[in-house]
Amino acid sequence: MKIAIIGAGAMGSLFGAYLSEGGNEVHLVDVWREHVDAINRDGLRIKEEDKERTVFLRALTDPGELGPQDLVVLFVKSYHTADAIKKCTNLLGQSIPVLTLQNGFGNAEIIYEIVGQRAKVIAGTTAHGATVLGPGIIRHAGRGETVIGNYGENNDKLVHDIAGEFNRCLLETRVSNNITGVIWGKLLVNVGINALTAICGVPNGKLLEIGGTRRLMQLLVSEGERVARARGVQLPYPDAWEKVQAVARATGSNRSSMLQDLERGRETEIDFINMAIVREGRKSGIPTPYNKFVSLLVKALEEKNKNRLW
Ligand code: NAD
Repeated sequence: MKIAIIGAGAMGSLFGAYLSEGGNEVHLVDVWREHVDAINRDGLRIKEEDKERTVFLRALTDPGELGPQDLVVLFVKSYHTADAIKKCTNLLGQSIPVLTLQNGFGNAEIIYEIVGQRAKVIAGTTAHGATVLGPGIIRHAGRGETVIGNYGENNDKLVHDIAGEFNRCLLETRVSNNITGVIWGKLLVNVGINALTAICGVPNGKLLEIGGTRRLMQLLVSEGERVARARGVQLPYPDAWEKVQAVARATGSNRSSMLQDLERGRETEIDFINMAIVREGRKSGIPTPYNKFVSLLVKALEEKNKNRLW
């Protein structure tokens, strides 16, 4: 398959590498010139546990250099989704699939709005974890399942073929008939964990040990669960609070991506996580004061850190 990965940071590089090693013709597209140059010059270096390997594949900064693809995978941060997809419409043709495995809620909707008439949108989640260590080098921090499904329509042969290809390339993948539920299932976990770890500067597990954060977590998640039910979402587990606690325990020493983003003075994906609950709640008349409060607080910290205030 001809595959273009748009946003070749930690996750885009990881998926691109596996798909390329499986024999696909993969191009990595990223606006980060140093990273692109390092990959073209020395290959993409991947650290996995105590091993390191190099994968040779082509990277570029301008998607305009490529023609139509068989699959486009979007792996930019959510706040770059609209910009990134608008710049790569030349890669798309009637019924060419665009896959988003980004975190949060709203990416598939943005992609659909921009290219829905010209392309097929496939959405999902992945439990792989990765980080960028420097230009041309990433760490694969953890393996996990990827779940995909057609956005807004029934699954067809194409989505099963993509899952089959991912599995063949050692990216364990299944197709779900409840992809909205799967996305919301992961969203509620992020709603309970990410903003609070970022605001308090603690790893995931600490949230359960501190009385105040534990209570706030529960309030954020129960607002999110109420909104999900009002929006007609079927969550993939019976009890969201139980699920969030289990994930926080299992990932106790992890520092969430939102915490890392704030520490580095970067923008966070808060608009697609807690703020998404506020937006969706508004549509169904469900009040979401706790999610709104933490969203604004993260926004304030983003601004403070970015401008190095105080
Ligand atoms: P990242 O910051 O490492 O990579 C994003 C890349 O997109 C960057 O290299 C950036 O230069 C590039 N980019 C920005 N604008 C672009 C544009 N217009 N065109 C092309 N490239 C552009 O982020 P990541 O950690 O790989 O996360 C990507 C998405 O996957 C996020 O939604 C994240 O929440 C989700 N996710 C991450 C992990 C993880 O472990 N890192 C796990 C699951 C899901």
